[in-house]
Amino acid sequence: MTGALDETHDPRRTSWVESAQGHSDFPVQNLPLGVFSADGQGRRIGVAIGDFILDLTQAAEFLDEEWRDELAHPVLNAWLARGPAAHTALRGRLSELLSDERYRGDLEMALIGQSEARMHLPCLVGDYTDFYVGIHHATNVGRQFRPDQPLLPNYKYVPIGYHGRASSVRASGEPVIRPSGQRKPPEADEPVYGQSRRLDYELELGMWIGRGNRLGEPIQVGEAGEHIAGYCLLNDWSARDLQAWEYQPLGPFLAKNFLTSVSPWVITADALLPFRVAQPPRPEGDPQPLPYLRDGNPAPGLGLTIEALISTERMRAESLPPHRLSHGNAAAAMYWSAAQILAHHSSNGCNLQPGDLIGTGTLSTAEDSGLGSLLEISRGGKRPLTLPTGEERSFLEDGDELILTARAEADGAVPIGFGECRGVVVGTA
Ligand code: CA
Repeated sequence: MTGALDETHDPRRTSWVESAQGHSDFPVQNLPLGVFSADGQGRRIGVAIGDFILDLTQAAEFLDEEWRDELAHPVLNAWLARGPAAHTALRGRLSELLSDERYRGDLEMALIGQSEARMHLPCLVGDYTDFYVGIHHATNVGRQFRPDQPLLPNYKYVPIGYHGRASSVRASGEPVIRPSGQRKPPEADEPVYGQSRRLDYELELGMWIGRGNRLGEPIQVGEAGEHIAGYCLLNDWSARDLQAWEYQPLGPFLAKNFLTSVSPWVITADALLPFRVAQPPRPEGDPQPLPYLRDGNPAPGLGLTIEALISTERMRAESLPPHRLSHGNAAAAMYWSAAQILAHHSSNGCNLQPGDLIGTGTLSTAEDSGLGSLLEISRGGKRPLTLPTGEERSFLEDGDELILTARAEADGAVPIGFGECRGVVVGTA
C-alpha cells in the first residue's frame, strides 16, 4: 500500500448527515462509491453516507472539473482506472463536503435515501477470477476427498485460482435460481440431469481492479496495492453435486457460473488503511514464497470480521432474526495476501483491466465457528445444522436467504462496514 492516514480517517470527524454518526457501515470515515438508480432515472455514481447516497451527478459542480467526465458514467470502470492519487483526492474532497456544515444547504438536495434507491453492479466486469487462498477451507474440502493429503503439493507455492464467468456476476439482491445440471449419485452407475440438491454459498471477499497493467508487463508484488481500487463481499454460489461430478480435470465450470453475487459498495483501499494487519506467520516448516511473491509490506492483511447469516422462510414467518452461520477474521483465513494474488495473476504477463473482479476464495478460519460454506459446516452433508426453528440444513433450501457482512474495527479508528451481500434461493424460474 502506498497511502497514508490523513484527516479523512480522523475519528473526531463527523458529518452534517446525522445518520452517519455511529452508522454501522457508512460513517464519514468510509465513503464507499457505488452505482444506483432512483426516481425512474438512469444509473448514477454515488457515495454512501449514513442512510443516504450523495448523488455525484447532482453534486458535480462541487467536484474537480477534471473528474467530472468519469464520475458522470453509469459504471465506475473509468473512474477506477485513474489510480490511487485521484481516488485519494476525491475521498479528501468528499470528506470535506460531507463534514463541513457550510455545504449542507447546497448538497442536502443531492442526497437520496438508500431505501429509495436500487443498487447495481458498480462496474462492467470484463473478467472475473476466483482464487482459493483460504487455507483452512482448502484443507477442509480437500480432506473430504483425500483424507491423507488434503492439500495438494502446489498449494503452499502457488496462489491457486481459476477463471470464472463475468456475465453472471450480479449485485446483492439478485434471486438465486437453483441450477440444474449433471450429477452422479454415489450409488448410481450413470449421471442424471436435474436440479441441484446440494446448493451452497461461499463467503469470500472481492477486489475491484483500478489501474490495469499492459499485456506482458507483470505487476510487482510491492506495487500491487496501487492496482486494487477497493473491496466487496462476494458469494460464489456453488452446486456441490454438479461440482463433484464435473470438476476433473479442468476445475469448476457449471457448478459455479450460474451466479456470483457481490455487495454493491466499493470499499476503497484508502478507507481500509486503518485496518491493515500483519498476515499470520507461515506455520513452521512451510516454504517461503518464491521471490516474485515476497511481499515486504508489514501489514498486507485485511483486519475484517466477516460473517454469514441465514434466514429461512419459516424464520421470517416467525419474525426470527437471521441466524449466524459463521464469523471470523479475514486475515487469519488467507494464506496469500491481496498483493500476492495480484502479483501472481499477472506474473505471466496476463493483463488485468479496470473493473475486473478478483475473488479471494472461501475464507474459513481454523475454528468451527468460522467455516465459510455449508459443505464444511455440515461435513459434506453428514452433520446437518439445526436452526432456531428446529429446521435442519445440510445445504440451502428454496426460500433460504443468505446474507454476508464484513466489518472493520481497530483501536483509534471509527469502525466501518461493507453493507450486505444478499440472495434468496428460488426454484427454477
Ligand atoms: Ca470460490
